Amino acid sequence: MTTLLVAAHDGAHLKDATLKALTAALAVGDDIHVLLAGDGVAGAAAEAARLPGVVRVLTAEAPQLAHELAEPLAALLVSLAPAYGVLLAPATSTFKNALPRAAALLDVMQLSDVTAVLAPDTFERPTYAGNAVVTVRSADPIRVVTVRTASFRPTPGAERAPAPIEAVAVPADPGLSAFVGEQFSEADRPELTSARVVVSGGRALGSEERFRELLLPLADRLGAAVGASRAAVDAGYAPNDWQVGQTGKAVSPDLYVAIGISGAIQHVAGMKDAKVIVAINKDPEAPIFQIADFGLVGDLNEIVPELTKALG
Ligand SMILES: Cc1cc2nc3c(=O)[nH]c(=O)nc-3n(C[C@H](O)[C@H](O)[C@H](O)COP(=O)(O)OP(=O)(O)OC[C@H]3O[C@@H](n4cnc5c(N)ncnc54)[C@H](O)[C@@H]3O)c2cc1C
Repeated sequence: MTTLLVAAHDGAHLKDATLKALTAALAVGDDIHVLLAGDGVAGAAAEAARLPGVVRVLTAEAPQLAHELAEPLAALLVSLAPAYGVLLAPATSTFKNALPRAAALLDVMQLSDVTAVLAPDTFERPTYAGNAVVTVRSADPIRVVTVRTASFRPTPGAERAPAPIEAVAVPADPGLSAFVGEQFSEADRPELTSARVVVSGGRALGSEERFRELLLPLADRLGAAVGASRAAVDAGYAPNDWQVGQTGKAVSPDLYVAIGISGAIQHVAGMKDAKVIVAINKDPEAPIFQIADFGLVGDLNEIVPELTKALG
């Protein structure tokens, strides 16, 4: 059978999440087709055509696919599904929304947040906030899978003859949702989920002002994205899209600096795949030190400015 890899892209380019999901698709071991859904996807399709293991690229272009609405994307996936053994996508917000809909319409189980591919029908995924790992074998004719990108290294593009690119028919818009508008926050920092370095702050920062005063200069020195614990987000110290953890974003940077974060399991679920973890906490018993590679016990109000100065 063939695997259909549903690509995350911005029209012109593939997103890093696609290259990580490709690693999972390669582990399934079947031929891979890549689907680019959107409205104006030529640039990203050309990139996909040169990825290792990809034998065909499908483009699906229509106005209703331009804004990542789950309903028309699910309808498209259902129309393509009979030709595939696996529908696989990175577990981004868009695909966490669309793929379970497609699975329900196909009357098969959804395999969410897969962290390892053991066989074409057997996958590992975390449960209980990452405290247990379940091995799931699916007997469904089509396996609908989202993969946790933090668990897979990206497969880079290759120097190879491009795979053929073909346009597929797009089903009629189910008309269940409509795009109204969007607002983006301006950011000149790396994107949190693909950053090589992440500096994260917790409740101990005490206020939004203090959070920005202490963390942003350190993040600037390190060229880092900024993250936060849920407690810091709930207290209004940091915006919602900075939250790392079970109900936030999963990150796997080379370096994760946790500042004034206790290390609750729900936070750790989102950052334990970081290569090197540095923790700054005044409590030597804080659980974050159990997973930290380097720990600094002390008051963040003293340590962080000193560290920032030393890096300057
Ligand atoms: C269903 C569910 C989902 C959740 N999802 C998430 C999630 O996605 N992400 C997440 O982060 N949390 C999540 N949580 C919340 C989680 O359980 C914790 O409550 C939260 O992570 C705690 O945040 P914190 O570490 O910033 O705060 P705290 O637990 O209050 O820890 C603050 C830490 O700062 C230290 N500290 C205090 N003052 C200083 C100082 N001056 N210098 C140095 N250190 C200091 C303390 O010793 C302490 O360890 C979830 C909870 C539930 C129930």
